[in-house]
Amino acid sequence: MQQKLQKILQEKFKLESFRDRQEEIVKSVVVGKDTIVFMPTWGWKSLTYQLPGLYLDGVVLVISPLISLMKDQVDKLNELWLKAELINSTIDTYAKQIILNELSKPKTDIKFLYIAPERLNSPEFVRIISRVNIALVAIDEAHCISQWWHDFRPSYMKINGFIDKLKENADFPIMALTATATKKVRKDIVDRLGLDDYNVFTAGFDRKNITIIVREISKKEEKIEKVAEILDKTPGVWIIYCASRKAVKEVYDDLIQNWIKAWIYTWAMTPENREIQQNDFMNDKLKVIVATNAFGMWIDKKDIRFVIHYNLPGSIENYYQEVWRAWRDGKKSFWIVIASFQDTKIQEFFIENTYPTKEEILQLYDFLYKWEKEWWGKWLPILKTQFTIASESGLSSDMKVWTGLKVLEKYWILRKWVNSGSLEEWFRWRWVTLIQEKRKHSNLLIDWSHQELLKTEAYYKLEQIKKLLFYPSCRKRFILDYFWDEEDLATLGDNCGTCDYCLERKNFDSMEIEDYVNISVFALVLDVVKNIDKKIWVVMMTKFLRWSKDTKLIEWNMHKRENFWALEDLTSELIQAVIEALISQDYLHKTDWRYPLLWITDTWRVAINKNEFLKDDNKELQHYIKLRLWSSTWKKKTKSPTSRKTWVGKVWTYKETHRLLIAWKTLKEISVEREVWLQTIEWHIVKLYELWELWLTDLMKFVKFSNLKSVKDVIINDLWWQVEPLKPIKEKVDKNISYFDIKVAIAMMGNKDL
Ligand SMILES: [Zn+2]
Repeated sequence: MQQKLQKILQEKFKLESFRDRQEEIVKSVVVGKDTIVFMPTWGWKSLTYQLPGLYLDGVVLVISPLISLMKDQVDKLNELWLKAELINSTIDTYAKQIILNELSKPKTDIKFLYIAPERLNSPEFVRIISRVNIALVAIDEAHCISQWWHDFRPSYMKINGFIDKLKENADFPIMALTATATKKVRKDIVDRLGLDDYNVFTAGFDRKNITIIVREISKKEEKIEKVAEILDKTPGVWIIYCASRKAVKEVYDDLIQNWIKAWIYTWAMTPENREIQQNDFMNDKLKVIVATNAFGMWIDKKDIRFVIHYNLPGSIENYYQEVWRAWRDGKKSFWIVIASFQDTKIQEFFIENTYPTKEEILQLYDFLYKWEKEWWGKWLPILKTQFTIASESGLSSDMKVWTGLKVLEKYWILRKWVNSGSLEEWFRWRWVTLIQEKRKHSNLLIDWSHQELLKTEAYYKLEQIKKLLFYPSCRKRFILDYFWDEEDLATLGDNCGTCDYCLERKNFDSMEIEDYVNISVFALVLDVVKNIDKKIWVVMMTKFLRWSKDTKLIEWNMHKRENFWALEDLTSELIQAVIEALISQDYLHKTDWRYPLLWITDTWRVAINKNEFLKDDNKELQHYIKLRLWSSTWKKKTKSPTSRKTWVGKVWTYKETHRLLIAWKTLKEISVEREVWLQTIEWHIVKLYELWELWLTDLMKFVKFSNLKSVKDVIINDLWWQVEPLKPIKEKVDKNISYFDIKVAIAMMGNKDL
């Protein structure tokens, strides 16, 4: 076998040797084993089904959803004198018939047949192909057969039945190949193909020579500044990806102003102009290309060393595909993301537009059929731009029209036509033909629940990319885990050394962590989550703590609750970081839903009974905050929530503590009874005193005057009246003086009682 395979490789494919894991995969297939390949590779994957195809007897059937890819593959095979054909929507009926006739011959010349999934719907095709001697069936871009794939085509539902039909006649291995597969998708592929005994090859998601760097920058000017700075420092060729065409233009203009020679591929360019620029780029005369993510698939420039994402990508899959355009030659490259948390909004906007609601699709449906009535005959093309349709139908955006049309096309209600003559509008479908009589809405065969599932999935994916980019952890590990690449994970090691988190964590580990946030803030957030019986979104939680005037909060009567506005002194970024830190230490759980909710975990329940717990984790929590915020533009020193302010809205919670206090309970007892942290109760005490609810004599029961005195001395003599942060004070006073003592002392100094 070995020799024969080697011979085919050299003689038929003109290649000297196998690359990476090609050989293993090929061998798995030629022994007749179903084989799944999850690998992000460039160019060599097709060989793993083409070569076995030549080894085995019969026709290789390749099912692929990508028209351009099919054509490319067929051309390449034909160049090697291997007979390959394709059937998809670009082939006319006559040519199709010739291919089918050829296939019907007892000994057909065709070795490779590429088909679009829609062929599975054609009874004629199924009838003919089921009589052909099949060598193997390869499903390329196999993620498309998963229901989680945004472009999922209903035709793929038939794939299992189709394969069964073919198997009636012959036994052959099935191959599924994809470069992007998450855990969910992988399971789905296996289920849909009905595989049970198969080989899986997953590897290569880790690119050892690539360094990932994330910088969270929200201000536009600072972003541009950063980009210019990086470009200035680094030789080599760049791609800068932006989320919208508007952003592309802005970045481009700014670069030109900074005297950086850049290139954008715009719809407004003449073909000649575009070609000149492209040549300049390929010949290194232009250093930078600015583009939207739709662009660049066909750029085959091997020495692109840097990819910058100027906005947040929509998902890890998208991100991975986009950055893939760097590093084609395997040399050291950089992937840099300069995104902001606010970019999430752009992506949410995209999701809402990509998955219009049922009502919106039906609105579009009715609009299209309204026009039909006025025609003389049926099935005439509708010659309207999407923009016109959007404004006439009342849909809010032309993007929704575009995606709405796609949904209707997917369910065979209409067809879209490309007018290839008009290059400047190449990205727009212009003609639409209805191919079905108008039906009642309830009789439409559209899978609405699947549409809804896709939308939920899009939000889930957005949540994952946010986690990858904005929450401190090893980015490589996160990606490998996302793609379920256990092989690469096993060799990754604790510190990958090629992501900013790991590189910078080394420094942080050796540094002493100062308290970024007072520990009582963590305690307070936990209390709030516990006490709000109604589940609340993370964003709303932040708003609640910062006293936002969001009408929803008022609607839900949240403004009357305890701790409303309790952390008004902190930035919302910091509050979010606090919440995330608590999640990272497993005190809180956040759902992966579109509007993520927060839950209290068992860890917390255990911890509340032992007040020390939060203190034990303090270092980790502070560490998290530090890492979380090191890359953002957040530079303000945070104030502890004990700052001297009157908190009118929160009197109730203090009063409750007060009530228990005058019932002769100890602070510890109050803490247990109210199920809040001891620190919170201590803080209440200070507040009660500040609000004149607690007499000085009562306050003095909890503290030693001598301790307060030494705190005051330190503040005045060593720190020149600097009372925040508390840490420097704590370091200078005697060990047995607690933070509570310090807070009391400061409060008393403020009231001129000390
Ligand atoms: Zn790492």
